[in-house]
Amino acid sequence: MQNKYDVLIIGGGPGGAMAGKAVADAGLSCCIIEKRPAIGAPVRCAEGVGSEISDYIDLDPKWVSSTIEGALLVAPDGQTLELNPKMAGNEVGYVLDRKIFDRELVWNAANAGCDVFVKSRASSAIMKDGKVCGAVIETGGKTVEVYADVVIAADGVESKFARWCGIDTTVPFAELETCVQYLMTDIDIDSGQNAFYLGREVAPEGYIWIFSKGNRTANVGIGISGKMCKEGKRPKDYLDAFVAKHFPQGKIIELMPGGVSVCKPLACTVADGLIIVGDAARLSDPITGGGIINAIYTGKLAGEVAAECIASGDCSKKALMKYDTIWRSSKMGKSLARNYQVKEIFIKLEDEKLNSIVKSVSTLDMETFDTKHLLIKLVKYNPWLLKEIVTLKHLLE
Ligand SMILES: Cc1cc2nc3c(=O)[nH]c(=O)nc-3n(C[C@H](O)[C@H](O)[C@H](O)COP(=O)(O)OP(=O)(O)OC[C@H]3O[C@@H](n4cnc5c(N)ncnc54)[C@H](O)[C@@H]3O)c2cc1C
Repeated sequence: MQNKYDVLIIGGGPGGAMAGKAVADAGLSCCIIEKRPAIGAPVRCAEGVGSEISDYIDLDPKWVSSTIEGALLVAPDGQTLELNPKMAGNEVGYVLDRKIFDRELVWNAANAGCDVFVKSRASSAIMKDGKVCGAVIETGGKTVEVYADVVIAADGVESKFARWCGIDTTVPFAELETCVQYLMTDIDIDSGQNAFYLGREVAPEGYIWIFSKGNRTANVGIGISGKMCKEGKRPKDYLDAFVAKHFPQGKIIELMPGGVSVCKPLACTVADGLIIVGDAARLSDPITGGGIINAIYTGKLAGEVAAECIASGDCSKKALMKYDTIWRSSKMGKSLARNYQVKEIFIKLEDEKLNSIVKSVSTLDMETFDTKHLLIKLVKYNPWLLKEIVTLKHLLE
């Protein structure tokens, strides 16, 4: 490890890997440090992504466990709503294999010229006159100081780096979904369909997911609001009850705990000498908790903006703000803002209202399905929704 790079990247997830590749492609020196001994493992993710991932990266078929062509939504009272590809705008999605995906993204960065060190943990930030200048790193039994013109914090939901730089990264307890997931095999599922189960009894202020990985195997997991966790009512308790009911013969071959932030993004994602990307910037979707695509997009953008600023000799907060401005005004930024408001409404809904919504949507004529028909039908059968939709109107335009 050199003691100075143009760009130092903390974290070897999708955000860090994309940043490393973008910086190396621009011909600058960079280094990714990853605290775990292996990139991509253990997997802390349900691995689902929408087809729009192809807008951000050329998807290699090796990275995909299964292609998803529909979704099943199960209301608290057991009614089901099947979303076919037409309802979803003919969009399909994928369940990735993140052990392969994350590793190959880092390989791509390494092949472009980025240094990579695993089992190397940033333990504090190096600051000078309020500017971020590098990190103290624990690696190979030694403590080293590594300097950089720009540090990219890509250290995920558990991110500490930005906090060490004086940025408030607190996730309100109620906006941290506490998750547990089993990789299950020998289960009967529709391999082309992901399923979501809603309801206070099933997953209070969250949902249970079944994301198919093919071969009678799936990620079966749950996320519930941190504030709903109590003794005997932890995510694992709900998930075990669900599994016992739906997959009594299934085998659990991996258990994974994790957390997902469903809060607003950080108020500002740059500082002098620092850019924050992906989950570290709180960029996972507030409704679904999905953050892979957002990490890819912001990681690449951060690498490009860092390279530009280094070339121009100005890595101040003002110059790096270009990154913050671009992602906030992007499709992703707008969708995060809208989905936060939608989440705030839906999270408070009692089961009866969820049942009523699912019922009204399930009676829609799929042949004439469009957003206008959906809204008319929703309001006709759920007049209380009108107030909420008016609140959201400016965000839906
Ligand atoms: C249970 C669960 C299910 C999920 N399901 C989905 C899903 O289906 N679809 C989806 O899109 N998203 C999902 N997500 C979210 C998704 O995993 C993240 O949004 C995505 O991984 C973010 O990428 P990232 O690069 O920002 O962070 P990460 O992938 O978390 O990478 C950050 C890396 O930084 C490393 N690191 C942390 N601190 C340090 C340090 N001090 N020094 C060095 N390295 C450090 C970590 O070890 C980690 O490897 C899920 C998350 C969870 C927990």
